[in-house]
Amino acid sequence: MHEAPNYTRVVFDTSERVEYKIFVLTNPHRVVIDLNNTSAELGFDPSVVAVGRERLKGLRAAQRGAGYRVVLDTYAKLTPKGFTLEPVAPYGHRLVVDLYSVTPRPVTPPSVPDEDGQRDVIVAIDAGHGGEDPGASGVGRTQEKKLVLNIARKLAYRLNRARGYKAVLVRTGDYYVAHRKRTRIARDQRADLFVSLHADAFESPEVSGASVYALSDRRASSETARWLADKENRSDLIGGVGEVSLDDKDDLVARVLVDISMDANLAASIEVGESVLNRLAGVAKMHKSRVEQAGFVVLTSPDMSSILVEMGFISNPNEARRLNQSSYQEQLASALFDGIRDYMGRSAPPGTLISWQRNQRKVNYTIARGDTLSGIANRYGTSSRRIREANNISGDNIRIGQVIVIPAG
Ligand SMILES: [Zn+2]
Repeated sequence: MHEAPNYTRVVFDTSERVEYKIFVLTNPHRVVIDLNNTSAELGFDPSVVAVGRERLKGLRAAQRGAGYRVVLDTYAKLTPKGFTLEPVAPYGHRLVVDLYSVTPRPVTPPSVPDEDGQRDVIVAIDAGHGGEDPGASGVGRTQEKKLVLNIARKLAYRLNRARGYKAVLVRTGDYYVAHRKRTRIARDQRADLFVSLHADAFESPEVSGASVYALSDRRASSETARWLADKENRSDLIGGVGEVSLDDKDDLVARVLVDISMDANLAASIEVGESVLNRLAGVAKMHKSRVEQAGFVVLTSPDMSSILVEMGFISNPNEARRLNQSSYQEQLASALFDGIRDYMGRSAPPGTLISWQRNQRKVNYTIARGDTLSGIANRYGTSSRRIREANNISGDNIRIGQVIVIPAG
């Protein structure tokens, strides 16, 4: 079972494709699932399955002739939607029943641009995988989906505490979200930046290190990148989006076509990626020293800068151990936060507090031996003329120890 904000997913692993019928009864509220020609596996204990679940009081089940009846006792009326999934490694046949809340939880409205042009920079943090898609699994039963959600929460905490930033968690618990839906959630919240968090596994336990990716509109930039891209994209299928998968595919083709004309956005994504990579390199071993590019579906938004960060290889015993440590997760979250801030400090979108602050920024500078106005101007991304104007200096008339104001770049 996996609890999402507006539904609870119940997954049955079956030995073959199962015929089923679902209906809802009231007074008391319950959902009944009849599985034809089915019996439970030995040792299946229905009484423990639904303990402590948000929408479910409990689960009962019993053999009924040749069939098997499952009754879900619910706190309120739920609308069920069932579909079967064909085997996708590591899973066999499955029956999925999504139980939707009739009155969805209220959604926090997206922050509207302030009239004075000082809105927050909105960062969507996407913890990869979730629910029945555990992502990579590594040494010591480390699961990618848990690890990345922990880091996502720590990063969100830092962003929300900083003035001028707001974090949106794309996934808030242990449930699956289709790739297309992830970017939609971010876009609905008017995110300026989309950061997808992952951890890696590889056949060889020696491989280690973190990587940062931006989208490629070419083939993946290296063998590893291609291998990864394929694996990440496949998880929509593993996570099970049921009958909507064909629509999704059309959408993908459309998106890829859109992407070709998205050079500007891609350039910005690579720049964010570089800032994040520089900071990550301070706390983690890097797998590659520059931003790589691959065809990850979650990076295909034409209107949001998007990066994907692989935090390390959980197939490497040493790295898996560190990634499981809360203190190391804090360090990684800090590095991601600093990288995002470095980038936004230079290139926050117009209309945000961060961009307004940048335009106000002035620096006091003390002239040192060997300084020239043009050298100082270069260093601060401004011009000698602007420094002269701001300080009433004529020519190159400066002296050691003099304090001058450097206007915003
Ligand atoms: Zn992943």
